[in-house]
Amino acid sequence: RIGTAALAVQVVGSNWPKPHYTLLVTGLCRFQILQLLKEKPYPVAEVEQLDRLEQFTNQHKSEEELGELSEQFYKYAVQLVEMLDMSVPAVAKLRRLLDNLPREALPDILTSIIRTSNQEKLQILDAVRLEERFKMTIPLLVRQIEGLKLLQKTRKPKQDDDKRVVAIRPNRRISHIPSTTEDDDEEEDHDDVVMLEKKIRTSSMSEQALKVCLKEIKRLKKMPQSMPEYALTRNYLELMVELPWSKSTKDRLEIRAARILLDNDHYAMEKLKKRVLEYLAVRQLKNNLKGPILCFVGPPGVGKTSVGRSIAKTLGREFHRIALGGVCDQSDIRGHRRTYVGSMPGRIINGLKTVGVNNPVFLLDEVDKLGKSLQGDPAAALLEVLDPEQNHSFTDHYLNVAFDLSQVLFIATANTTATIPPALLDRMEIIQVPGYTQEEKIEIAHRHLIPKQLEQHGLTPQQIQIPQVTTLDIITRYTREAGVRSLDRKLGAICRAVAVKVAEGQHKETKPDRAEVGEGEDCKEHVTEDAKTESISDTADLALPPEMPILIDFHALKDILGPPMYEAEVSERLSQPGVAIGLAWTPLGGEIMFVEASRMDGEGQLTLTGQLGDVMKESAHLAISWLRSNAKRYQLTNASGSFDLLDNTDIHLHFPAGAVTKDGPSAGVTIVTCLASLFSGRLVCSDVAMTGEITLRGLVLPVGGIKDKVLAAHRAGLKRIIIPQRNEKDLEEIAVNVRQDLTFVMASCLDEVLNAAFDGGFAVKPRVERLTSKL
Ligand code: ADP
Repeated sequence: RIGTAALAVQVVGSNWPKPHYTLLVTGLCRFQILQLLKEKPYPVAEVEQLDRLEQFTNQHKSEEELGELSEQFYKYAVQLVEMLDMSVPAVAKLRRLLDNLPREALPDILTSIIRTSNQEKLQILDAVRLEERFKMTIPLLVRQIEGLKLLQKTRKPKQDDDKRVVAIRPNRRISHIPSTTEDDDEEEDHDDVVMLEKKIRTSSMSEQALKVCLKEIKRLKKMPQSMPEYALTRNYLELMVELPWSKSTKDRLEIRAARILLDNDHYAMEKLKKRVLEYLAVRQLKNNLKGPILCFVGPPGVGKTSVGRSIAKTLGREFHRIALGGVCDQSDIRGHRRTYVGSMPGRIINGLKTVGVNNPVFLLDEVDKLGKSLQGDPAAALLEVLDPEQNHSFTDHYLNVAFDLSQVLFIATANTTATIPPALLDRMEIIQVPGYTQEEKIEIAHRHLIPKQLEQHGLTPQQIQIPQVTTLDIITRYTREAGVRSLDRKLGAICRAVAVKVAEGQHKETKPDRAEVGEGEDCKEHVTEDAKTESISDTADLALPPEMPILIDFHALKDILGPPMYEAEVSERLSQPGVAIGLAWTPLGGEIMFVEASRMDGEGQLTLTGQLGDVMKESAHLAISWLRSNAKRYQLTNASGSFDLLDNTDIHLHFPAGAVTKDGPSAGVTIVTCLASLFSGRLVCSDVAMTGEITLRGLVLPVGGIKDKVLAAHRAGLKRIIIPQRNEKDLEEIAVNVRQDLTFVMASCLDEVLNAAFDGGFAVKPRVERLTSKL
């Protein structure tokens, strides 16, 4: 029941990484508790001061009585302090204190700096009588002096260092000497450090890493906890212990099971699944991972990420996704050096820490969206990660020791290869994942998306029914995409609306007083218009749970998702000459693109609008040149009937969706067709779309992205598609049912294109040669 009164002078510390505070107090005196007044929220007691009471009045007496004892104590104290390193300011100050302070204050101060257990220190504090205190402290001093002597003898050469170490170690904060309260926390932290050291020694880290860690822990032991570096070093060591240096999962790969799993998880995408199986088969036969890195390239929402996840599942490995979109600092990959405040390891090492094994599947998402900045090129850092020759000794700047990444299976995804740095592209095997056809989307929706959404919203098939026609409606009128992501979102919206309905029904069921009658007829109507908010409130009085299952038909769809967002606009726009439909490829899949042209009086200038790249502009110039040189053949004239098309005429070509940058040669044939329509005054067939590069001689050259383009034309409801002859082979990739809906025209020269684009052909007018006699 004895305590020390003290004055808090300073509180330092932080809540990070865990709450840790250091309290600096000045000790005043001992006291004794007379009566405890209250315990909560903190104890309050009546106390009685025990010492330093009459120190001034009784000084004489006490000194006389204890003269010998205090003299003896003083001698030991001086001897001890002089053995310490005087160049440390705190020690020099201590030496001065010995002379200046009253003797009775000395036992407390010296006890606080010598190396002894907290238990013994508390005993000194408990000793109220000065005589007792002197008597108890002297043996401690002697013990410390003997210890120091022994140390100095054994380690003579490095004397200075040792002194310093000894001086600092007993109480890690020697600068706080006079009155530092030592609590159990410090002991605990010390224990933590010891534990950490034990963990480091028992962990299976590489030899190099072990060496570094042991060095760091040595430093940590000497460091005051309030130093920012303490937390930093500790975090570092904890990370090193946590990293899976040699912990791995066992691969369980069976190709047959893998095939079933891939098929179960994903509908369609046959080419991708086949390649993935090949890849896995090679893994099974040859048990090392030095192979190409697979990179899935395709529009968003076609399942690239989820195939990655399935691969991890088939292999029985951990899966971790690293999003690289927008990363423009190489330290995101490789970590920050530990000298920075707030430094941390890169995403690779962080990922390994998260999964806790050294052979996970890492999905590098969106490698095409890596940025570049002054902080270095993250793509260059990725090169090291992905190169099987180098990545067994990947060095993260934060770790500063090599970590073996060779067991990690990397898979990358991208929307386009165009923006992937060439060196990175070189290390990867590209697998194209094209968009889905409408039929495939319906199947995916019914096999995968709807069941998943129902589960997420706590619904059952007995409560909601979405027929295939509704799905088709959603696909054609509410979404326009290559993948299935916004389809998934729309289905989610439907499920939410139905969930409200179902929950409301349940609620009403539990309220018997309100549950009463409605006409059967009204109820039925309510089922079809189930999600209309007004109808919900209108019919709320009916207080009958809606009939199950709630059928989502066209009306319900309109209520939930609003009016359709996309309507077929094709035929309407081709009602005047000078418009043609081209097919474009974008990272988001194929798209149809209207090309519009108009002419006006002028000086033969060509104006192009709609955010075009250089290649596209060149295509436009090519098209005009070709038409001018063939004007007579096709009977193309300007407004005043001249075959010189640009005579007194300006031409304006526009590519709508002006906010999107467009480039590439594949619009060549579309521009020619559009201009031919303008100059001939004839309409282009409204169900024809085309793509192909042109040359000055009127040849049609092959282009890329045929599958995506054809799917886009199919989505838009077009019927005839003109593609370059040499792209015929690409049609094999397209599903049979899509091919059946469409007519393909293979064109090798512009004559064929024009013939196919106009109703009744665009035949070369046979020149009526009129013989004129010269006689
Ligand atoms: P990406 O990575 O290509 O942008 P995701 O892998 O995130 O696309 O796929 C979006 C969603 O679509 C996922 O929920 C996925 O399960 C689903 N999905 C896409 N393609 C298929 C498919 N062929 N079969 C089943 N589900 C699919």
